[in-house]
Amino acid sequence: MKRFLLWAGVVIGASTIGVLLFLIFSTCVFGNHVYALATCTEPETCERCGETRGEPLGHVYTEATCTEPSVCLRCGEHHADALGHEWLPVTCTEPEICARCGTTQGEPLGHKMTDATYQAPATCTRCGHTEGEPLTPALAEYTINELTVGEPVPYTTASIADHAVDVTGTAEITDYRVIDGDEIFPAREGYEWHVATIRLVFSGEDAQQNGAQSAYTFGDYYILDDSISGHADENGMRTFAADWYGMRVKCWQKTGETVENDWYGQELRFTWEEGVLVPKGYDGVLLILFNFRQAEDATRLYLPASDVLDEEALVFRMK
Ligand SMILES: [Zn+2]
Ligand SMILES: [Zn+2]
Ligand SMILES: [Zn+2]
Ligand SMILES: [Zn+2]
Repeated sequence: MKRFLLWAGVVIGASTIGVLLFLIFSTCVFGNHVYALATCTEPETCERCGETRGEPLGHVYTEATCTEPSVCLRCGEHHADALGHEWLPVTCTEPEICARCGTTQGEPLGHKMTDATYQAPATCTRCGHTEGEPLTPALAEYTINELTVGEPVPYTTASIADHAVDVTGTAEITDYRVIDGDEIFPAREGYEWHVATIRLVFSGEDAQQNGAQSAYTFGDYYILDDSISGHADENGMRTFAADWYGMRVKCWQKTGETVENDWYGQELRFTWEEGVLVPKGYDGVLLILFNFRQAEDATRLYLPASDVLDEEALVFRMK
């Protein structure tokens, strides 16, 4: 009996150990979970019983670029598509370029150059880039006697009584203004009037004996235009041409009010207004005072500018 009890004890003990071992190694009843590593989306999870611990790791996304999508560094999950390039428009000097990554495609357009004019150098119509200088004005190398507003200078012209006799007085531009128009000088869209007041004064014996006759015409600083018409239309307007940004444009001249045209004591005075109607901002018109004898010989006033421009002529640039 004693022996039996002993064996029974051994068997029970062994079974207990077996059960314990089974419980330890095959189940989680003692809290001995066998955790698999956490992933992006799953926490640590017991392989045996499914018990979890902690939190999922969460995805670690890469930054999407123009060409690469955003993906999880750990698990490769697709998060967002590639952004695609953000193309800036092609320009004269740069091809299409991605604002984000600087990748380029295609070729620059190249400049679209105009010809140089008297007012502007060769200029790209797209971007404004310029090359070189404006054209050289026809009169750039000319020696001209330029009149300045408010400064009288000697002026020699033929006398009335005898065109062979010269008389010398003074010529002065007493006033110069730019206006849209008024009752004498009619306004015109896109144009402006440049109006000069001219004052000629003759005194001394020659003038008193013979009088004096003025002569003037108009020219152009850039193209030395000779087109001024000898005849005015019914409104007193004469046409001539200017060269404005490469375009030959029509301009007009009109003689305005006469302020003085007589003897004042010992002085023979002529004061009057001359206006030219030119594109807004045009600065090339020349008012040219010359010796009347030249006009008399030509039997025509408003002579071509190139016929009268010499060292004697007085020139006022209406700019
Ligand atoms: Zn478990
Ligand atoms: Zn992930
Ligand atoms: Zn890009
Ligand atoms: Zn350009």
